This record gives sequence, structure tokens and C-alpha cells, in this order.
Amino acid sequence: MGPHQSAHGNHAGDFPVLFSNDGYAKMCFFTNKFTPSEAIGHSVIIHRNPDDYRTQPAGDSGKRLACGVITEA
Ligand SMILES: [Zn+2]
Repeated sequence: MGPHQSAHGNHAGDFPVLFSNDGYAKMCFFTNKFTPSEAIGHSVIIHRNPDDYRTQPAGDSGKRLACGVITEA
């Protein structure tokens, strides 16, 4: 379980799959689960494999490759 006791696949932080090229990635998406200001101070983790949005607890997304804290630009 996670935020608001929902299963993985429905968490506010279950982001779309991130694609990268030569070590660089950029992503933009729309959500009605939080506002940009609510994300500040939270962390983000990038996993090695795509998220299947079903397997608990982390979508069978593999090793954690990187993490960081979301800050205001
Ligand atoms: Zn989740």
C-alpha cells in the first residue's frame, strides 16, 4: 500500500514511463492527483525497468537507479 491506502498503479506518485537517450531524460505529464507545489520536498526514484502498474509494491520495475528531491525551479 502507499499514499491514501491505494494499491500500486493508483498512487499519486506512479508516474508514466520515463524514456532516456544516452543518459538524459525529460518528461512532462498531466495529473489531477497533485499540484506542482504539493510535489516540492518529496522525493522521486527512477527504476531500471518499465512499471507494469499492477505488480505490488513497485510494478516489477527492477533496481533503483537514481533518486532525488523535488525542488522549486
Ligand atoms: Zn505505486
